[in-house]
Amino acid sequence: AAKRRQLGVLVYDTSMDTRSSASLSLLSELRVAIEQEELRLYVQPKVDLKTGQVLGGEALVRWLHPQRGLVPPMQFIPFAEQTGFIRQITVWMLETGVQALQRWQEAGLSMKLSINLSTRDLLDPTLTDRVRGLLDRHRVSAAWLCLEITESAIMDDPARALQTLQKLHELGVRLSIDDFGTGYSSLAYLKRLPVDELKIDRSFVTNMERDLDDARIVQSTIGLAHNLGLTVVAEGVETDKAWALLARLGCDEGQGYGIGRPMPSAEFLGWVRRWEA
Ligand code: C2E
Ligand code: CA
Ligand code: CA
Ligand code: CA
Repeated sequence: AAKRRQLGVLVYDTSMDTRSSASLSLLSELRVAIEQEELRLYVQPKVDLKTGQVLGGEALVRWLHPQRGLVPPMQFIPFAEQTGFIRQITVWMLETGVQALQRWQEAGLSMKLSINLSTRDLLDPTLTDRVRGLLDRHRVSAAWLCLEITESAIMDDPARALQTLQKLHELGVRLSIDDFGTGYSSLAYLKRLPVDELKIDRSFVTNMERDLDDARIVQSTIGLAHNLGLTVVAEGVETDKAWALLARLGCDEGQGYGIGRPMPSAEFLGWVRRWEA
């Protein structure tokens, strides 16, 4: 029965009380996951939509659970955010991601890696020093690291988010607004953020061929980003037609199943060589 309960709680449910025994058991499983090195860093390629060149990738976490197999992030990231455990996951992703960047550099490739931050990370006063320390230790230039933050994470506590983003920006890492268009973002606020990139949420991109409103949202987001001097990235590029339409609308970069699915980071360099061959 104990085992069944342990496996049963792995699927996160928003009604779950973070103090319940099921929740405590998931939390202890996550601690074990980090100690036993059960987390995996997957990378999904990002390409230049005009030239097709691979510009780098986005780091996405997976949990290789001994019984469950590969657990997707939506089954534990929201819980980790709610309990604060996300900070340990972010630290692990940053360490593993910067190591990957060092390997890419040593292989002679100039590619960027994007890592996702959560609301909690933006409130962590030690984050910038930690990132600086990692980049120094692995001799990776800050310009190769990009940090993705969702609109809603920023709007949770805009003043503190701005402080953290400013420090990260001074360090020289790239900053990206993730899932753009899904939260309520104040454009006036956006203008003041030291960001370099906007990512158009997948929901608009996957619907734009069928839905004229979504196509207009994509088009105006590209215009907005460019007017603010930002690079614009489309997520959810699933077809060649979507790629062609986005390129025609002037979108700079793309990411999606039609280009490449997230893959174990060890397979990424081989994928890049095959793509460019
Ligand atoms: P996200 O940051 O918006 O990441 C993009 C998600 O879209 C990924 O799902 C990716 O596999 C998926 N995706 C990419 N291209 C396509 C496509 O063409 N079609 C479809 N249907 N899906 C596509 P994944 O890896 O399951 O991650 C889901 C979410 O979990 C992420 O959304 C992010 O919010 C969160 N997440 C993942 N890894 C981390 C992490 O290390 N830290 C934090 N804080 N959150 C993470
Ligand atoms: Ca992201
Ligand atoms: Ca996204
Ligand atoms: Ca998303």
